[in-house]
Amino acid sequence: MYIGQEYAHQNYYRKSRYGTMHMYVRKKTVLIFQCDCCGGFFKRDKRDMDPKRLSNSYYHVCGNCDAKKFAQSKGVEARMVWDMPVSSLKTLDQL
Ligand SMILES: [Zn+2]
Repeated sequence: MYIGQEYAHQNYYRKSRYGTMHMYVRKKTVLIFQCDCCGGFFKRDKRDMDPKRLSNSYYHVCGNCDAKKFAQSKGVEARMVWDMPVSSLKTLDQL
């Protein structure tokens, strides 16, 4: 689940041609997600993400969880819905 974004400031130092050190700051955009598998929060640099995936129409899985195993379990859930007879009295949360 996409939660939002925050900024991380990183300080760097460079040496000028006269030998004095100058500090400069770079701002990095960091995105915050909640794992759809284990529920934990994790962060990822915005430059590493496809901008299409910054919505809740996609699932987001953290680095500790197995994304492929999670995708397979979602396929099983979808198949259970497709195979359900029209006349069944079950609702989707009872599967
Ligand atoms: Zn996880």
